[in-house]
Amino acid sequence: MKKVLVTGGTGLVGKALETVIKEEQPSDEEWFFAGSKDADLTNLAATQALFDKVQPTHVIHLAAMVGGLFHNMNNNLDFLRNNLLINDNVLQTAHVKGCTKVVSCLSTCIFPDKTSYPIDETMVHNGPPHASNYGYSYAKRLIDIQNHAYHDKYGHLYTSVIPCNIFGPHDNYKPEVSHVIPGMIHRMHKLRAEQPEIDESDKIFTVYGSGKPLRQFIYSLDLAKLMIWVLRSYDSVEPIVLSVDEASEVTIYEVAEAIAKAFNFKGKLVCDTSKADGQYKKTASNAKLRSLLPDFQFSDFRQAIDASVSWYVDNYELARN
Ligand code: NDP
Repeated sequence: MKKVLVTGGTGLVGKALETVIKEEQPSDEEWFFAGSKDADLTNLAATQALFDKVQPTHVIHLAAMVGGLFHNMNNNLDFLRNNLLINDNVLQTAHVKGCTKVVSCLSTCIFPDKTSYPIDETMVHNGPPHASNYGYSYAKRLIDIQNHAYHDKYGHLYTSVIPCNIFGPHDNYKPEVSHVIPGMIHRMHKLRAEQPEIDESDKIFTVYGSGKPLRQFIYSLDLAKLMIWVLRSYDSVEPIVLSVDEASEVTIYEVAEAIAKAFNFKGKLVCDTSKADGQYKKTASNAKLRSLLPDFQFSDFRQAIDASVSWYVDNYELARN
């Protein structure tokens, strides 16, 4: 019987894993989803107590200080220190308690700022990350270094995945920390609800920037299925990119259109070009994933946006607003 501890089990990805596992009901695995109320993983004693309680054989390590561009820019020291502490406490406690496999989460946004495209698993350490999120990026990159060091010294199979941008139910919608999709969902919901005396066709939804940058987005439930496959079947310390195909990139304007359609918004979308665009594209290659899982079907982007918006509308009171 495998016992799987999911750190960050109350977040966007953790909740998606919980949904998939509830549907699947595996007979040879027991899963435990931990949030920060179960243990503050920046604290070693609390981390050890959590492992003592759960007695995991396997760990999916998602817990992290996570945030969008502006939250990162203003808090690089906190992103660096909190994530270094969390990662070191989790990996070392997993080692001490004899866990046989740990799957941790990196991100496509930690890659070198100056790079060629598409980016792939071999390029994580090839140059400094973008200045806006160097704290988060270096802490995440060190997970890969730690995984190799545990493998070199003890032969452990501690590995990592590199997701592109993630969205889905249970996202973080708080304006000061949110990523682009939950940020737009939150603003669209607010725009529709405020000033009900105004005809909706006269309302304007602002898209920050030119709307032209391209991004790859993975639905959290697709990512959850892929992470479960990594836990069960991917036996390498080297990281693996978990992203939709390169052809599935969408523009920020197309994201706004999909969200507007999901809300049945009747007003106009207008781009505010005085706001920063960020990088034009950060295309990641999923060739390694495709070589191992050629038939994996990703959800249709617009249907997944519809499902995410429906979840938000239905669960507004519970959501992290
Ligand atoms: P969320 O912000 O939705 O969730 C973060 C989780 O980490 C929560 O369960 C939170 O617990 C937990 N956590 C945070 N700090 C602590 C702490 N000190 N002690 C214990 N638990 C803590 O994150 P996501 O689900 O979006 O991200 C999951 C992983 O995926 C992260 O490692 C992230 O870096 C990575 N990632 C995310 C991307 C995205 O677009 N969202 C893109 C690529 C990678 P609680 O809520 O109970 O406080």
